[in-house]
Amino acid sequence: MKGKVYLIGAGPGDKGLITQKAVKILEKADVIIYDRLVNPDIIKEIPQNIEKIYSGKKGWKKHTSQEKINKIMVNLAKKGKIVARLKGGDPFVFGRGAEETLYLKKYKIPFEIIPGITSALSCPVYAGIPITHRGISSSITIITGNEDPSKKESSINWNAVAHTRGTLIILMGMMNLNKITERLIKEGMAQETPVCIVMEGTHNHQKTLITNLKDAYRDCKKQGFKQPAVIVIGSVVNFKKDLEWFETRPLHQKKIIITRALHQSEEIKDSLTDLGAVVYEIPSIEIIDSNKSRKKLYKIIKNSSSYDLIIFTSANGIEVFKNHLDRIGYDSRWFGDKKIAVIGEATKDKLLNEFKIKADIIPEDYISESLAKEIIKHKHSVRKAILFCAERTGEILTRLLKKKGIDIEILPLYRIRKPKQTKKLFYRIRNEKIDYIIFTSPSTFINFFNINGTRQFLKKLKIISIGPITSKTIRRYGYKVYLESKKHSISGILQFLCRGIV
Ligand code: SAH
Repeated sequence: MKGKVYLIGAGPGDKGLITQKAVKILEKADVIIYDRLVNPDIIKEIPQNIEKIYSGKKGWKKHTSQEKINKIMVNLAKKGKIVARLKGGDPFVFGRGAEETLYLKKYKIPFEIIPGITSALSCPVYAGIPITHRGISSSITIITGNEDPSKKESSINWNAVAHTRGTLIILMGMMNLNKITERLIKEGMAQETPVCIVMEGTHNHQKTLITNLKDAYRDCKKQGFKQPAVIVIGSVVNFKKDLEWFETRPLHQKKIIITRALHQSEEIKDSLTDLGAVVYEIPSIEIIDSNKSRKKLYKIIKNSSSYDLIIFTSANGIEVFKNHLDRIGYDSRWFGDKKIAVIGEATKDKLLNEFKIKADIIPEDYISESLAKEIIKHKHSVRKAILFCAERTGEILTRLLKKKGIDIEILPLYRIRKPKQTKKLFYRIRNEKIDYIIFTSPSTFINFFNINGTRQFLKKLKIISIGPITSKTIRRYGYKVYLESKKHSISGILQFLCRGIV
């Protein structure tokens, strides 16, 4: 049995810029060997059972590293493994892709090559620079800046490069920027030729700098521009001010912490990322099934006819309930013609997504008192209600309903606890300059507050709360709520942020 090596381009950074073909191979590979420039989020999303080997420069001796990677690839393939060799950008654009494939060829290892979107062409796009434009630039020259251009025997014809009249794109050029710009000027390029530096291009933390050949080195130094960066030289740079799109998104470079449970944070993370934010996930809660009530729950599920009103006070409750229904072979039909009450938008959406069922009762304000009021309006048609909620919650609602004579049972389905890794994740970013932190429930706040070191940290941030109950908790602990979502939902938070409240 022989393995195979796929040499894959992972794109420049934005994790959406990887090809469908690449994603398919990453899902079926046995081992993935990835470089420093590959977006860590791409690696995070690869299933856990696939082995991942980091081959970035750190930890590898400069000269032996390539040889070592080659050997690892061959050995794995010989053992029959499917190896995905993942490289930043395109593997054949200054990616040593040919060296690796020649080595594989020598050892008769089958291979395929999947191109990637190179940083050379995509970073200018994300900076709003058209690399060609009719009448302005009719050619593109991509150059490595790795070589010292002041040395005598350069493999680059700098004189020719200075006279293309098209766009010059330099990769790996930051270390030699001074010498490169001097050389281009010496070869006859105008000192005022526009230059744009795109650092960490296509990532949400992308930074750009507009300058000219004469000042490029000085400006970069002053503003801390360094590798990895693409240097774009030519008149096309002047289009940036008109065509800019990436850096003008409402949350560009805003740093935001989200604290929801990890399995629930994807939607908000993706939405914030699409708006331009740099998102840090520090989940401060996780949902644990309540074993105590399982027996009772299964009894309720099996004797469903006893209840004609089902109440959910959280999206978590719906999720946990659905898992149990699934487990014992039931589906949405279990609800039959029972009425369903939910506390708010997120719970309503969850019910629709999970069960394709529309809620019958939703209060105007997403708080227990309003929900009780709304349920009481339906009192005449309720014989017996059941409330599915978290441990140690639901007390206010049940009290209010009982007072009005509604026969209600309460069943806690889950409890909330702080995940083990929360503290470590916080320590990793505690020195970053964060703009916002979002709390989507009182427990996300309390658990975050209880981590050593967060008390002062929280004082420096703008705190965003999902609704009045969460805000009340935050205030009780002595913090100001910068913004409370009017709709008491994630989409409400996003709408606020979109409007550029920053
Ligand atoms: N094969 C890669 C290039 C590897 S050489 C590609 O096709 O993109 C490494 C150089 O690429 C870096 O020094 C930098 O100049 C450039 N580069 C790669 N990713 C980049 C990014 N996201 N932003 C800016 N420059 C990047």
